[in-house]
Amino acid sequence: MPRRLSIPCLTFLTLVTIALFLFLGIQPVVKAEVVTNGSVQATAPLATTPPISSNQVGAAANPAVTNSSTPTSAPASVAPQPVAMQTPVSLNNSAGERSSYSSIRVDGPYIAMTFDDGPDATLTPRLLDILKERHIHATFFVLGQRVQEHPEIVVRAVAEGHQIGNHSWDHPPLNRLAEGGLRHQLADTSDLIKQTIGKAPVIMRPPYGATNPRLSRAIEKEYGMKVILWSVDPFDWKNPGSKVVSERILSGWKGSGGAKPGAIILSHDIHKGTIDAMPATLDALLAKGYKFVTVDELLALESKNPAPTPAASPSPSGHKTKRSKSKAS
Ligand SMILES: [Zn+2]
Repeated sequence: MPRRLSIPCLTFLTLVTIALFLFLGIQPVVKAEVVTNGSVQATAPLATTPPISSNQVGAAANPAVTNSSTPTSAPASVAPQPVAMQTPVSLNNSAGERSSYSSIRVDGPYIAMTFDDGPDATLTPRLLDILKERHIHATFFVLGQRVQEHPEIVVRAVAEGHQIGNHSWDHPPLNRLAEGGLRHQLADTSDLIKQTIGKAPVIMRPPYGATNPRLSRAIEKEYGMKVILWSVDPFDWKNPGSKVVSERILSGWKGSGGAKPGAIILSHDIHKGTIDAMPATLDALLAKGYKFVTVDELLALESKNPAPTPAASPSPSGHKTKRSKSKAS
């Protein structure tokens, strides 16, 4: 009798075992997908800059944030350090044909301050005051979504001599978008900027610096905007404190060179620590003899001198004019 029973029992056990195997076999795959989706962002070559601080939809647009338990102001903790450390983009082609710009070789002490992810209702106007006091012109890479909320700030920035660039609509990694999504992010934002200030932007910065030569060329050809990256990255979005932000801009940090002639300096006008850092930082740069220009002006100042790195510039404080490309946006 027990023998007879054991057959169905064995069959049952076999089925259960098979089911278990199937379950275990499939489950890891599912998990892997989920993890992949999550870590894709983390692994994103340039996933450094959290798009928007707290109150924004853009936060949801930041995949890293989406996967985090901290939905907002701490995207920094989400973006894995090593990733942030990766060189974001060095897309200058050897042939001299550039698909994007991280710094410009110039014959004078010119630098461009750039501020991403705004405009912010209170911080950007504060920054504009700081810049105005010092007669400094900067470049703002704005999000369409935020321009929609604060068009008057963008109008003011332009009236005070600053340049406006496109930074997408709500900060997704552009290199993962299909054509339709890309069009929305780029064209809709440019249209809104044009509507707001009467002129379409001619430069754009991809969120997280996430681009590749093909995408950058497409952005230039199809949307009429040069892709601008950066050579100085203070990682201000990690809120290290204003003093640290300042030091990193002046002296560099972890492979990101500090300010030097031709530098394009990355910052974000949606973080209080960044704005707090600006007066001392800008004053120090002015004291070293740097001249602030917009990105467009910097591009126009590109040296015609074929020599790779002439120290011909009245390089403030004897900075080496070695070109450097740095990390994140
Ligand atoms: Zn950004």
